[in-house]
Amino acid sequence: AYRKGGYHAVRPGDQFCGGRYIAQRKLGWGHFSTVWLAFDKETSRFVALKIQKSAPEFAGAAMHEIEFLTAIAQGDPSNSKCIIQLLDHFKHSGPNGQHICLVFEFLGDSLLRLIKYNRYKGIGLSKVKEICKWVLLGLDYLHRELGIIHTDLKPENILLVSTIDPSKDPIRSNATPMLERPEGGLNGCTVSSTIERNLKRKAKRAVAKISARRESMEGISENKKSLEEIDMRCKIVDFGNACWADQQFAEAVQTRQYRAPEVILGAGYSFSVDMWSLACIAFELATGDMLFIPKGGHGYDEDEDHLALMMELLGKMPRKIAISGCHSKDLFDRHGDLKRIRRLKYWPLDKLLVDKYKFPESDAREFAEFLCPLLDFAPEKRPTSAECLKHPWLNSQDPKPIDDKKDIGLQKVEVGMSKLRV
Ligand code: ADP
Ligand code: MG
Repeated sequence: AYRKGGYHAVRPGDQFCGGRYIAQRKLGWGHFSTVWLAFDKETSRFVALKIQKSAPEFAGAAMHEIEFLTAIAQGDPSNSKCIIQLLDHFKHSGPNGQHICLVFEFLGDSLLRLIKYNRYKGIGLSKVKEICKWVLLGLDYLHRELGIIHTDLKPENILLVSTIDPSKDPIRSNATPMLERPEGGLNGCTVSSTIERNLKRKAKRAVAKISARRESMEGISENKKSLEEIDMRCKIVDFGNACWADQQFAEAVQTRQYRAPEVILGAGYSFSVDMWSLACIAFELATGDMLFIPKGGHGYDEDEDHLALMMELLGKMPRKIAISGCHSKDLFDRHGDLKRIRRLKYWPLDKLLVDKYKFPESDAREFAEFLCPLLDFAPEKRPTSAECLKHPWLNSQDPKPIDDKKDIGLQKVEVGMSKLRV
């Protein structure tokens, strides 16, 4: 992928935008881009630099993302709406072509990493509640105030914001900022040595802040207490697939496991596809497992398996909805039954949480009462973010210590939902 039209190869110390941003280390990547931690010499703070692949379709996608991010930033000058803030954008020419670069505020680890750090055992319901609240605040802003549908909500696209005070944390002594490439000076930059020393000092402080945060995340698996201390504030990122609700948009949206039934059926979609994905994410945070893992099998494809899994969990899809999409005829017969998967094994959500994940019954019931309306087959019946924010489950506190079930050892049943069918 590091070829003409593809990714731009970056080395720590590389400069961007006339020397303003200096690459430090890679933070992550997606299908379209690599994302680097960079030091901004103008503001003396760290930023995330997203460097898009250079081919025209990727440049187009980046321009699309900039359009949405600009609207998001304009509507939220105080940066308090739980959506990533775009700080700057520019073009960068490299051996593989011209790359559009987006500069963001630097955030912490994604929810996917949080799930991994906790060894796929679930993070405890009070943390799940906290995360849901932040994400709902972000969605409420996107949906109600801006008319934007994200269409790709998933754990990788929600990043934590840490508020750990660096002065109270051990500082890694070898954390030094990188203001130049190891083998050379600041190419083409005429920075006086005092300014440079000052910059280095500021950079060093900022690096220390970030290492303190990273260490606290990296310590999660070893030290449960640190997980308890992490602020679960988070922000929604990745607007590469976002759309305006009132404009023409792509038919196939969302990442498979987080995809709403109306998208599979080709029945049109709206804001409520994000609500479906949020329910899938909340379940995954609470249990460590994805809610739906569809697989193609003998005589049926992923789409049909996905719908079967949904019905096994949520009950039969009303016939009217089942036959409403432009793909319905490939999947359902005229009675509203799946064509190729005939025997469904129903396992309702509250029972699944108790039987497979060993949740206490009241926890399972209350969590299911929050999730099930979001997983309504009828998109217009799903609650909006504003309605969800008022749900009692989000505003109730756990009376018991949340680690109860972990201490007795969370026994996972080896049979996943998708393996149940024969
Ligand atoms: P893509 O559109 O290519 O999927 P994303 O915007 O999702 O790109 O970014 C890819 C990854 O880079 C994210 O999953 C995350 O790990 C990391 N990342 C993105 N933005 C930031 C940020 N502001 N701060 C820290 N890491 C980030
Ligand atoms: Mg992404």
